[in-house]
Amino acid sequence: MLFEPMAYRQYLKTYLLENSDFMRDNCLYCGRTGYSHRVMCGKKVEWVECMDCNRWMVIDCIPDEDKLGTTADYEKSDFKCILCQEKH
Ligand SMILES: [Zn+2]
Ligand SMILES: [Zn+2]
Repeated sequence: MLFEPMAYRQYLKTYLLENSDFMRDNCLYCGRTGYSHRVMCGKKVEWVECMDCNRWMVIDCIPDEDKLGTTADYEKSDFKCILCQEKH
């Protein structure tokens, strides 16, 4: 079989896109998907992104001592996840 760079690049792009969706769909703190969060709390699930590692987590799963008020507060404050807080 001939190697087709364009087809391969297309494949990679799709693969990476699907993969990053998958990453985003799992909460860093509890590992659950967005779907199981919705089932668990029966309301809209709010995600925030870590400024350092770009991992996603659900606000409700963040420990109380790291919790900020609303989604907007996280966006304003360069929020860092527990992994990035530890490495200073
Ligand atoms: Zn969670
Ligand atoms: Zn992080």
